[in-house]
Amino acid sequence: MAVLPIRITGESVLHSEAAEVTEFDDELRTLVDDMFDTMREAPGVGLAGPQVGVPLRLFVYNWTDDDGILWRGVAINPELWISPTPVGEADDDEDSEGCLSVPGERFPLIRAQRAILRAVDLDQNPFEIEAEGWLARIFQHEFDHLNGILYVDRLEEQYDKPVAKAIKKHGWGVPGLSWLPGEDHLED
Ligand code: ZN
Repeated sequence: MAVLPIRITGESVLHSEAAEVTEFDDELRTLVDDMFDTMREAPGVGLAGPQVGVPLRLFVYNWTDDDGILWRGVAINPELWISPTPVGEADDDEDSEGCLSVPGERFPLIRAQRAILRAVDLDQNPFEIEAEGWLARIFQHEFDHLNGILYVDRLEEQYDKPVAKAIKKHGWGVPGLSWLPGEDHLED
């Protein structure tokens, strides 16, 4: 098993558009294995290529819903369709989102309730998942990573200052920073 360092906001790979995966080889398989290891160790419910410094369009996810169903897989070259985003104010509890590239912080963000994910797996077999609720949120969050967007980029204006403050407090927002799950213990 290999746990990879997770890049922290400020690193350019997190703020750039990722490229399509074209080589479905052993190297890709190893990367996906390592991404699962890294996500488990973090722990997190999703992890995108750019977060481990790989500017490719893929993410892994691992989340158990309220009915006990495990949603786990890798989405390569995904497309995502979402329902209209509800209007209103984000709820501090229900909409509280976090990101392994902004570790230890959480801010509320309203997301679309439903999403359709289409992607291929490691064998290039296409699949489709109709997601609702938190799974739909995970897909939106991870898909954004492939376009260089972090959830903190999407927050309502009132959170601009708290986010800037948090980033400054940790000394983030500059290139070259990462943390290693299992080794580095992050404080809130
Ligand atoms: Zn994230």
